[in-house]
Amino acid sequence: MESIDLHCDALFKLMTGKVPNLHGDGTGGLDVTYERLGECGSRLQVFAVFIPPRLDDRGLYPLLESIDLFYEKVLSCPGIVFVRSREELQKCRAEGAIGAMLSLEGVSALQANPVVLLRLLHTLGVRAVGLTWNGANWAADGIMEARGGGLTASGSQFVRQCRSLGILLDASHLSERAFWDVAALLDTPFMASHSNARTICSHPRNLSDEQIKALILKRGLIGVTFVPWFLEASGNATVGHVLRHIDYICSLGGEHAIALGSDFDGIDEHVPGLSHPGQLYNLRNELLKRFTEEQTRGFMSQNAWSFFERNLPS
Ligand SMILES: [Zn+2]
Repeated sequence: MESIDLHCDALFKLMTGKVPNLHGDGTGGLDVTYERLGECGSRLQVFAVFIPPRLDDRGLYPLLESIDLFYEKVLSCPGIVFVRSREELQKCRAEGAIGAMLSLEGVSALQANPVVLLRLLHTLGVRAVGLTWNGANWAADGIMEARGGGLTASGSQFVRQCRSLGILLDASHLSERAFWDVAALLDTPFMASHSNARTICSHPRNLSDEQIKALILKRGLIGVTFVPWFLEASGNATVGHVLRHIDYICSLGGEHAIALGSDFDGIDEHVPGLSHPGQLYNLRNELLKRFTEEQTRGFMSQNAWSFFERNLPS
């Protein structure tokens, strides 16, 4: 089995200092560990740099600390390959290695000089960017910002710069208006790394049918997420609910747009039987009861693989 996961917050747990490194069986509190990535045949794990709003007054420092931890604690694991290009991605499959990609979840910390800082972060290997977390910042409004604004002028410029550097856009936390602004600006595919279908579970973090269709039309990617309350309003979600969202996105024509965006280490509660990468087998087994082997392979890894192979710079 091969798997690809578009979103985890392991770097944030490393930054809090509660866990010393990426190793172990999870007893230290990490969902995503090096060993578990090996168990689920991970070919690519996207590591998000998430800085909670309460640390915003510390400027760039927490963001840089997170990236340092990625270099020190993730890339130091044997058999982990830094994925910044198509060739590095291909190397992971050729060598049976685990790819690791750096992504930003919110750009608040770049406010002082977005153009220069984005260029530097690109040099450090960042290849995906979500403009906001839930709130608003200088670039755009997040989905929980009541006024529901779109991209600012600086935000639009920033999206164009991402496009020219070959950094992929992630729309998961964006306000609806900002989502459509990004869609209008980009002639290239983008993704929603960890969001589900709002018609199935009416949470603002989930995508409307129109958003799902737009991502499909643009050959983008939707990372179905295991956040219990994005799967089922009561929060009592099962692996069956994950399948329900996948089923629904397929019904909109999204069979080739579906990927996984676990949000491991970003959630306190887990779907039973799906609480860490080592348990992805349970999802795969359920998928195989309903979908063909090829479709299942698509959801677990191949759709994301093709997306990154098409869209990462060489
Ligand atoms: Zn998130």
